[in-house]
Order: sequence, then C-alpha cells, then structure tokens
Amino acid sequence: MMPHSTATRSYLSRQAVQILLHMKQLLSQHGISIKLSESNIIVHVLEVVSKLNDPALEDCRKRLLEIIPHHDKVFLFATSNGQWLCINCNKTISVELRQEATIHQPQVVMCQCNMLYYVGQNTRQHVRKTTHLIGQCHRQSGSGNQEKIVIENVSVGGARIRLLSSLSLTPGEILNLEFHLNDKAKTLIAQPGCVLYVFGDSAGIQFMEPSSLPPALATYVQLPELIG
Ligand SMILES: [Zn+2]
Repeated sequence: MMPHSTATRSYLSRQAVQILLHMKQLLSQHGISIKLSESNIIVHVLEVVSKLNDPALEDCRKRLLEIIPHHDKVFLFATSNGQWLCINCNKTISVELRQEATIHQPQVVMCQCNMLYYVGQNTRQHVRKTTHLIGQCHRQSGSGNQEKIVIENVSVGGARIRLLSSLSLTPGEILNLEFHLNDKAKTLIAQPGCVLYVFGDSAGIQFMEPSSLPPALATYVQLPELIG
C-alpha cells in the first residue's frame, strides 16, 4: 500500500476518536455514514450535526469542542470571501463562504494548525460610506491605551478602521470606538465594536449596540462624501 499523508488526521486524540465513533453510531440512526479516515472528518461531522436536531449528537459535539481548540464566536463577513488571521498560528485563512452560512447556521472551518472556526455571511447589508475620519479606539478588556485610527468606511452596522499604531487586533475582540462624523453637528459616534476580520493594518468592526447609535449616522451614510 502506498504511504499517504496522515498529517491532517494525526491531531485526532484517542478521546476524539472515541467521541467520533460514538457519533458515527448515532449518525447511522439518521441514515448518515461517516468515515473516520476522512481528512476533514471533524469539520464534516460538526456540519452534519448542526443540521440535525439530536440531543445525543449535540452532547457529543460539545464534548468534541471541549478537546479541540476553537474560537467561540461566529465570524461574520460582509461578502462571500472570508479572510482573517488565525488567532493560534497567525496565518491568513481565506474561505469561500457558502451562501446559506449565517450566524444561525455557520460554516465550520479548520485552519492548517487545527484551530476551528465558525463563520458565516452577514446577511444584513448596509449602505457603506467611504470616509477619512480620524478617531480612536481602545480595547474593552485590560488597560490598553487609546490608539489613533482612521475610519476608512462606516455604515450603521459597522466600520472599517485602519490602525495608525502597531496595535495588533484579533478577530472576536471588543474595541470601544470613538470618532466624530464630519457632518454639520460633528456627531459623536461612541460605540463598542467586535473585530470581525483583520487584514494588514485594517480591521472590520461590527457595532455591538447599533440601537444606541445617533440617528444622524443613518443620514450621514446616505450623503455624498463631504470634503474638508
Ligand atoms: Zn491556525
């Protein structure tokens, strides 16, 4: 027999194999057969289980996630191209998101380092306005400094920011953003936001308390760009 790469399966601990064998048996009752030798067996099983409403399988899924490194939050992307830096190995992960992958039915993605992610498309599309606003942010956790940022675009759902410092952001972390719009009233936007993706020195931020945003923002994003 030809030797074949086992690199992608070597992460399966004895404990994981035991859980997967139990899941294999439970899945067969749904008429679904799985092969533990499949290279992406974890991703496959987690996706299959998420579509079934089976408490025993759900219990197995939780036990499996306890022993596999994963990110708790679902990453949402505005387009079908998901791209972010792995929080474990710092490599860029690029994923073509399935259209049906949303926050409720996320897609499972495993990095080469075996870190698991749940990702989906943000189905709420907002008008996005290109901006060149200066603002600041600081990490909600810990005693981080105020960091200077450029707001590259803004919508009522979030913003893309560019860091003017060497601060490195991680998808999933919460920032407090503060900036003024360049409208007549110089409306203040002060809002916690979740880092959705990081690419280079830019980051996509989703506002976490959109209902507390000033109504002026909704008007502002509809206006053509103001100069000065
Ligand atoms: Zn990784």
